[in-house]
Amino acid sequence: MTQQAYRAHFRCFSGCSGTYPTTQPLYRCPTCDGLLEVHHDIDALRNRSAQEWRDLFDARYRGHEFPYGSGVWGKREWIAPEVPDDFIVSTYEGATNLFHARRLGAEIGIPELWVKQCGNAHTGSFKDLGMTVLVSIVRWAHHIGALKSPVIACASTGDTSASLAAYGAIAGLPVVVLLPRGLVSAAQLVQPLAHGATVLALETDFDGCMAVIRELASRGLIYLANSMNPLRIEGQKTVGIELTQQLEWSVPDWVILPSGNLGNAAALHAGFRMMVDLGLTDRMPRLCVAQAENANPMYRAFLANSETVSPIAAKKSHASAIQIGNPVSAPRAMAALRAMNGVVEQASEDELADACARADRTGLYTDPHTGVALACTFKLRDRGVLTANDRVVVVSTANALKFTEFKLGYHEKTLADVRPQRANLPITLPADVERIAKTIQELSAR
Ligand SMILES: *Cc1c(COP(=O)(O)O)cnc(C)c1O
Ligand SMILES: [Zn+2]
Repeated sequence: MTQQAYRAHFRCFSGCSGTYPTTQPLYRCPTCDGLLEVHHDIDALRNRSAQEWRDLFDARYRGHEFPYGSGVWGKREWIAPEVPDDFIVSTYEGATNLFHARRLGAEIGIPELWVKQCGNAHTGSFKDLGMTVLVSIVRWAHHIGALKSPVIACASTGDTSASLAAYGAIAGLPVVVLLPRGLVSAAQLVQPLAHGATVLALETDFDGCMAVIRELASRGLIYLANSMNPLRIEGQKTVGIELTQQLEWSVPDWVILPSGNLGNAAALHAGFRMMVDLGLTDRMPRLCVAQAENANPMYRAFLANSETVSPIAAKKSHASAIQIGNPVSAPRAMAALRAMNGVVEQASEDELADACARADRTGLYTDPHTGVALACTFKLRDRGVLTANDRVVVVSTANALKFTEFKLGYHEKTLADVRPQRANLPITLPADVERIAKTIQELSAR
């Protein structure tokens, strides 16, 4: 079976007629100005049985044949079937560990607590999953003359820009990133600088950067790499598929996802939807969209039983990558929430930091966004929404090594709005064996 048998195109997410090639620089529906989605020819994909798809994906998983060892490109027929091999820009993203958090799960009464380690990635966040698809298609579109400007740009809370800068550098394409000045971690700022991107630090927040980038895109000055662009969602869609594959193709009961712009919630749904449509699974998990209390527009909509998410001004959060008040993918995420019988939960600054510290004591090393998801997991378990019989997957979206200021600040007790319960600092001692021996004895007596 050749790749060419499969087809995907853009279409309106709200149902307007018309389809558009995925190589076209198009980010909104030309008819209603709403969001777009990538639609796959599901009938063509039915030429393989569910078992054949599972076998194919298993055979490729973490293999050496380019590009199939990538967790994304190993499922290319479902993602971006038409891109020729020569244009694929891959770091072998995905195929990340699904960690069985036995100690933490035992503490909270969820023996089947799993953490999908999406932060174990080339640039340290799940953003690589979507960026490999987007940059590959840009490279291909540029080659066939579908793109006037190959300058790719994004607004970012730090991880999107790091990922775009890396993939752009691999492809040799120019990258511009717009960051809210002072609101990204040191590592997140260094990443795009190191890759040679043009970094514009703006005196605004993420939502302000997003407004600027949309205007630049509408003027045709740049190719838009934010998750408003559904190509990102296609790659991120593999998270749900891959974690199911890692559970021997059995669907978990719950997935807990830290969310800001809400693209990843839409992606998770799209992956689970496609598995059901093609018969690989017979149900979807329930979804928990986990938000920071300081940036909780979806949580407010959920409480109010509202079908739409009203923008708010996000307050400062240690979970800086989800400090977003006007989420672009809100309509997509609302659909995901409905289809997955979902809930929305929130975590305060203190709760997210404490959840990180608690998880770290069991050997995880958690970034503040994963802390939000874990804090929400703890709350849902306390309330009995999650039970001891549930198999729960928490999506860890980034590597905590990118958030050293936050991690250290916790132990030094310098974080705003956080009262650390588990601070642990170095004990300064002279290099005196007696003094050291005494300290160790005191420790073991405790
Ligand atoms: C981007 C990001 C998120 C949020 O994903 P959305 O698709 O914007 O909801 C969560 N955590 C981290 C670490 C991120 O970089
Ligand atoms: Zn439309």
